[in-house]
Amino acid sequence: MNTVTLPSVSGKLTPNAPLAPLVWFKSGGAAQWLFEPKDLADLQAFLRDLDPSVPVMALGLGSNLIVRDGGVPGVVVRLGKAFAKVTKCADLTLDCGAGASGILVSSTARDEHISGLEFLRSIPGTVGGFVRMNGGAYGGEVKDVLIDCDVVRRDGSLHTLSVAALHYTYRHSELPEGAIVVAARFKGQPGEPAAIQAEMDRIAESREASQPLRSKTGGSTFKNPAGHKAWQLVDEAGCRGLTMGGAQVSEKHTNFLLNLGNATSADIEGLGDEVRRRVKDKSGVELEWEIQRVGRK
Ligand SMILES: Cc1cc2nc3c(=O)[nH]c(=O)nc-3n(C[C@H](O)[C@H](O)[C@H](O)COP(=O)(O)OP(=O)(O)OC[C@H]3O[C@@H](n4cnc5c(N)ncnc54)[C@H](O)[C@@H]3O)c2cc1C
Repeated sequence: MNTVTLPSVSGKLTPNAPLAPLVWFKSGGAAQWLFEPKDLADLQAFLRDLDPSVPVMALGLGSNLIVRDGGVPGVVVRLGKAFAKVTKCADLTLDCGAGASGILVSSTARDEHISGLEFLRSIPGTVGGFVRMNGGAYGGEVKDVLIDCDVVRRDGSLHTLSVAALHYTYRHSELPEGAIVVAARFKGQPGEPAAIQAEMDRIAESREASQPLRSKTGGSTFKNPAGHKAWQLVDEAGCRGLTMGGAQVSEKHTNFLLNLGNATSADIEGLGDEVRRRVKDKSGVELEWEIQRVGRK
């Protein structure tokens, strides 16, 4: 497809763009095309004029993603600065660009005296990823604070979707296939900046103690099955520290997989599948991947 002429853009369009440097696992192949739109109009025009048969996917910080070693066919869209602003738009409500980080959202909320968004401080992703994944931590979840979001569909049209339209369940939304979140409105409650900051600090410290935050990882690997904790099932199946190639089940938190240095995505995904097999043998429970796996093997 690299011989196909793509629509001209104002932003940056890169063929055969390595994705490993852009994702937390630091592994995997290239995007056939990487598109970093200049602004919303650029993104809409590009999608409108792009051959509808070309697949498109959004990439945030790649903190919940295995990009397979054969790379991602079609266009990967990465939202930059133009989509990273966070501003107060109504009472206790923030308008957040989909490229904004959780830290920016929670610290802007603090400055605007809005509590209830502290949990986003600890999730290392973008607003687009949070909305898509129903990100949550420390008792908070996107579905509880989201009012609505703006999405650009595969044909370039812009729509506002209410939280109800996303039919959220645990770490899952029914975001329409190929839709790219470009902005979201989050609402909290009145709060005092000092108390909000104290809660953000508490969350950050608790994270530090329990998760391998400075590693090449993808966050929680498996969803918690009803009535179980995934990390406990993995531990009971004897998988703590298990390795495959350059990949390892974290000793610190058994629901995290690590790239020890030179793991391929096949090592990481293969290790995850081996863990699922062992957990099924030991406990009868089938673990479901939380990490999104994309591209060709
Ligand atoms: C150390 C660590 C700790 C973590 N802790 C938590 C936690 O406590 N709670 C939690 O919920 N998650 C956690 N995660 C996982 C991850 O941070 C979240 O899933 C986050 O929402 C992913 O955001 P992202 O922008 O990096 O998305 P990516 O990983 O880049 O993508 C994830 C999915 O979202 C889609 N996506 C991304 N941006 C958009 C967009 N603009 N429009 C449409 N779809 C989009 C992608 O196509 C993909 O399907 C953790 C990850 C790490 C590495």
